[in-house]
Amino acid sequence: MNIAHNLGFPRIGAKRELKFLLESFWKNEIDSEALLEGAKSLRRKNWQKQSESGIDLIPVGDFSLYDHMLDMTCLLGAVPERFAGPSRLDAYFSMARGNPDAVAMEMTKWFDTNYHYIVPEFKRKTAFEIGSEVLFEEVREAFGLGIKPKPVLVGPVTYLYLGKEKEEGFDRIDLFESLIRAYREILERLSTMGVEWVQIDEPVLALDLPEEWLDLFEKAYREFAPSGVKVLLSTYFGSVGAHAEELKALPVEGLHIDLCRGRDQLSSFLQNYPSEKILSLGIVDGRNVWRTDLEDAFSVLKKARDCLKDRLWIAPSCSLIHGPVDLDGEVGMDSEIRSWLAFSVQKLKEIATLKKGLNEGGSAIRSALESSSLILSERKNSSRVHNPVVQERLGRIKPSDEKRISPFHERRRAQKERFALPLFPTTTIGSFPQTERIRKIRADFRKRRIGFLGYLEAMRSEIRLAVEKQEALGLDVLVHGEPERNDMVEYFGEHLLGYAFTENGWVQSYGSRCVKPPLIYGDVLRMGAITVEWSQYAQSLTEKPMKGMLTGPVTLLQWSFVRDDQPRSLTALQLALAIREEVLDLEKAGIGMIQIDEPAIREGLPLKKSEWKAYLEWAVRAFRIAASGVKDETQIHTHMCYSEFNDILPAIAELDADVITIETSRSGMDLLEGFGRFEYPNEIGPGVYDIHSPRIPETGEMVRLLEKACSVIDPDKLWVNPDCGLKTRDWQEVEAALGRMVEAAKKLRDQAGSSSTSFNSRIGAG
Ligand code: GLN
Ligand code: ZN
Repeated sequence: MNIAHNLGFPRIGAKRELKFLLESFWKNEIDSEALLEGAKSLRRKNWQKQSESGIDLIPVGDFSLYDHMLDMTCLLGAVPERFAGPSRLDAYFSMARGNPDAVAMEMTKWFDTNYHYIVPEFKRKTAFEIGSEVLFEEVREAFGLGIKPKPVLVGPVTYLYLGKEKEEGFDRIDLFESLIRAYREILERLSTMGVEWVQIDEPVLALDLPEEWLDLFEKAYREFAPSGVKVLLSTYFGSVGAHAEELKALPVEGLHIDLCRGRDQLSSFLQNYPSEKILSLGIVDGRNVWRTDLEDAFSVLKKARDCLKDRLWIAPSCSLIHGPVDLDGEVGMDSEIRSWLAFSVQKLKEIATLKKGLNEGGSAIRSALESSSLILSERKNSSRVHNPVVQERLGRIKPSDEKRISPFHERRRAQKERFALPLFPTTTIGSFPQTERIRKIRADFRKRRIGFLGYLEAMRSEIRLAVEKQEALGLDVLVHGEPERNDMVEYFGEHLLGYAFTENGWVQSYGSRCVKPPLIYGDVLRMGAITVEWSQYAQSLTEKPMKGMLTGPVTLLQWSFVRDDQPRSLTALQLALAIREEVLDLEKAGIGMIQIDEPAIREGLPLKKSEWKAYLEWAVRAFRIAASGVKDETQIHTHMCYSEFNDILPAIAELDADVITIETSRSGMDLLEGFGRFEYPNEIGPGVYDIHSPRIPETGEMVRLLEKACSVIDPDKLWVNPDCGLKTRDWQEVEAALGRMVEAAKKLRDQAGSSSTSFNSRIGAG
């Protein structure tokens, strides 16, 4: 018999139940007992759904109140000292979210997903020992419900590799022995509880792992062999074919590989696969929302079964936490597009179908195979997917479309003349506070409680308010404030053909935060101007330059579920053409500065360095196509908000935006040194204050940051702005902070004016 299993199930619930439980608990509306009861019932429902879908081995321990890496830190007893406290839950949430006495642990993206994990902290003296009963309780809970649990752990190499040293002068790899002992104890405990299989996730294997880290696998898994449980070492997010021989030789009872991201690796695993081991094949894509091509999947599995016989297991490529829960929640969706989709529950059913085919023969699933093929061919041939207008435009792209008319220094001259900005021009990143009133206007319009004209007038009055406030603050370059946007991707998607939206397609981003990525199912075409009306109105209210505000093609791609029937690069190109048209319309409407936000360029980097070059090439090209149609005197801005730039600086320079604004305040401008060293050619606006925090820095603090910036970047090229958009803050904070920011810019101008000749050296020394 071949077995169907799952690697992890979305924990948030089909209706985001976990989110609401957590937020009520944090607001003290429910007590810890209610929270834990709610979580328990959610777990039970999740297990039931998986079991009803036909899954034999169900993951346990994949559920988490906040994050599974954080849970691992607790299980391993590695809670940083500053969180020691009486209540387990308080400490747990403080680690994730901070408390008045202790800053939260760092949070960062989980590989190339939009899920964020809490980064383990290591000190020389960190010791590991079982520090939490949660996993064991959940295993007991599952047994109690008659479910055969397969506990899931983040593997030791992955756990250690993804953590950070919080003390100078030691290497976290030195903690390995102690870590392994703790894992072994955990496995032994699970064994005494009657657990047969444990899934140990080692996704770091899909990265370019240094040799000394690769060596740890043998050491670790040799230690686990006598623990009494069977270990399924699972890898995902990429091919691990390069390590196939080492992995096959490890003393574990089974391996899982991702065939969606690495179909090619199958042959190197099948060859001489050890006769006593299980091989689990991740054949159903856990990272996207499309139905599986069952015919194709079945033929791959059948071939694998010829080698493996009963030792073949069937699974999704990775944990399903990266996709939405259940397509049944999408009642309002267009039925044709809906027929092309499979969310977590549907994907598990596909896996169960494939298992049935293997165990009972292809004829037992004949009708499922046929209907899968039929739907696939309908999708392939649908006129909704292929748009001749888009194809024709793609064919018309010329090399000159990727280039501004003149090089930067000439454009700069034209722009200086046109805008006559002071030294250290001040601006913001685009959004202003999304007040209750603004949300209500949008909701009223969506629910048709107000008509279009009412909506337009209400939005205009919000824009007016934002412009008045910016004028009063004395900012140099204004924005309209983005009141019309619920989300920087969704808003554009709603105006583009080829995009669809879900009602309940939520995916956990971190903790209680969920996102609902739109999906791109077909050729992308702009149906008409998207932002021109707002920007033009805003410009009519002021003499100052009004920046148009767009989301860039790579970010639109990265934050959506994208089609799997063409390369990402091609979808990016279609998005680029749509944004290019919008840029040109803005220019025509008299908007002289246009910002194209690309906060997601960096996170799109492939996990393996060997693939970076190709990605950066098409990503940069997409941006340039979007941005390059304009005249010299039109100023293109871009914005990115993260701090690990150094790897990709050349690519960022190649975007050739006239101005880039970036997040820098949290790193105390250290990041700018990279820009300085690299001699970044164009203008830069380093963020002078952190918008993520309610704290409003003193003017002097901002002045010091700017002085620091002047020491590495030509002051003549510096802009003054916050780190990111201000939509999550309130007006009181925003006005106070921007007031000080404008003051800081003035101080710098004064200093510059008082000794303009030796400005550089003077201010650099400051
Ligand atoms: N223009 C957007 C805003 O100000 C940029 C958001 C982002 O960088 N994520 O909100
Ligand atoms: Zn930002």
